[in-house]
Amino acid sequence: MPLVLRKASLPAARRLYSASAAAGLRINADRLQETIHHTCQWGAAHRYGSGPAETGMSRLSLSDDDAQVRRWFAEETKKLGCNLVVDNLGNMFASRRGSLPNPTPMIAMGSHLDTQPRGGRYDGILGVVAAVEVLRTLAENGYSTHHDVGVVNWTNEEGARFPKSMMASGVWAGKIPLDQAYSLPDIFDPSATVKSELQRLGYIGDVACSSAGHPLGAHFELHIEQGPILEESGKKIGVVQGGQAYRWFTVTVSGRDAHTGTTPFKSRSDPLLAASKMIVSSNAIAKKLGALASTGVVKIPPSSSTNTIASQVTFTLDIRHPDDAIVDEVQRLCTESFGVIAKEDGRGVQVDMSLDTDSPATKFDPDCIKMVEKAATKLVGADGWLHITSGAGHDSVNTSSRCPTTMIFVPCKNGVSHHPEEYCSPEDCALGAQTLLEAVINYDKFKAGQ
Ligand SMILES: [Zn+2]
Repeated sequence: MPLVLRKASLPAARRLYSASAAAGLRINADRLQETIHHTCQWGAAHRYGSGPAETGMSRLSLSDDDAQVRRWFAEETKKLGCNLVVDNLGNMFASRRGSLPNPTPMIAMGSHLDTQPRGGRYDGILGVVAAVEVLRTLAENGYSTHHDVGVVNWTNEEGARFPKSMMASGVWAGKIPLDQAYSLPDIFDPSATVKSELQRLGYIGDVACSSAGHPLGAHFELHIEQGPILEESGKKIGVVQGGQAYRWFTVTVSGRDAHTGTTPFKSRSDPLLAASKMIVSSNAIAKKLGALASTGVVKIPPSSSTNTIASQVTFTLDIRHPDDAIVDEVQRLCTESFGVIAKEDGRGVQVDMSLDTDSPATKFDPDCIKMVEKAATKLVGADGWLHITSGAGHDSVNTSSRCPTTMIFVPCKNGVSHHPEEYCSPEDCALGAQTLLEAVINYDKFKAGQ
């Protein structure tokens, strides 16, 4: 199918690589684009333009479309001479033998082929397809790595259909029990579960989903940034240092129902007024410390009415920062401030803050990071890339607790992601794939030399 690619022409993408061609291997930018959009035939949805690639994606985990793209993945990697292992949670590991006499835990390039229900063509997909392109490049050049090198397609990264994001990498890393993952229901049709869908599609493999069952030597993940930092700073590559810490709370503010016409302010116990001030205060505290604090859900009783003070309000609070100590400090200041606000108006309110999720900051592996830095400096110069912390969760956050891990970010247009119009230019896709290739080769040589 002919492709209409926006914004950039393919010859430009080709030119980008002519410089590094002499120095060694180079990925095929055209083939990478064609393959990304070829695989997006399974799950294409939410058309927004007239070009063949101008749709978003709806390829929910373990759906029929997901099964189709998994079949493609299996066939393509087998064509490249890879050995394919499917574990008992449907994770797919395709590995290419290195030259060392015995097989080694593979240096993996992993990401995910499932999408959000209104997702785009790059989140996760770029990471897996670029990894396949790296394997194609190695194969067609007859390049032999020392260690086994391969690709992982992680099951249910998005958590959109089965509500647990980074599910299968979480089980692999020992953070989520297998049975808990198996029993997750489809949020649209609770009669289906992860296990029943894996069975239906024939994706319960013999190997245990664990870092012991199928260990990895390292994990490199190419991903779109999903934020505006690279684009705004004019940089091409983000060398990811780790994932930021986040802590989620439910805050319950209790007051008393009262008539709005007959109850003077001084006699009220108004939880909605207090909760509003608390949300504003958490925002100010986070801003001051360079952190993030967000409220995504506010609930008031369904019996509330225009002329009654609500009796109770609950709201969520999500605090994030790359440094655990700053998250601690934002939490401490919020707790203090909420206590003061609770007494400020009328007869005051009760406030209770309960912790729902605590995810400490993740630090990626210094050696893996160095290998990406070296690749990025070679490709775009020392001024062309920057260090960045991932604001979102990724499978790499899970793998980093079990094997040396890092990520490579490339810009996406206007920072838009989890949206049909999510877009990464052909040049940036190619540059990301080339960085992935060179980082993996750097790491392979580095480990062989140790
Ligand atoms: Zn993703």
